Amino acid sequence: MLPGVIGVLQANEALKLLVGYGEPLVGRILTFDAQATTFGELKLRRDPSCITCGSGALSEQEPRKSA
Ligand SMILES: [Zn+2]
Repeated sequence: MLPGVIGVLQANEALKLLVGYGEPLVGRILTFDAQATTFGELKLRRDPSCITCGSGALSEQEPRKSA
């Protein structure tokens, strides 16, 4: 049951990103408590010194040009 609930939510997020519609779950983590049937949300902040999400993150740098 739980994998089905989470799988549908993940598919929904993928569709939102693909078609550019709605408010994607970016910078947030959705939590689901199956025992209580409740959803929650955590907001994520960037760490400026982090190599993954910080201001110098590789994903935000210009793509390398091949010679
Ligand atoms: Zn980070």
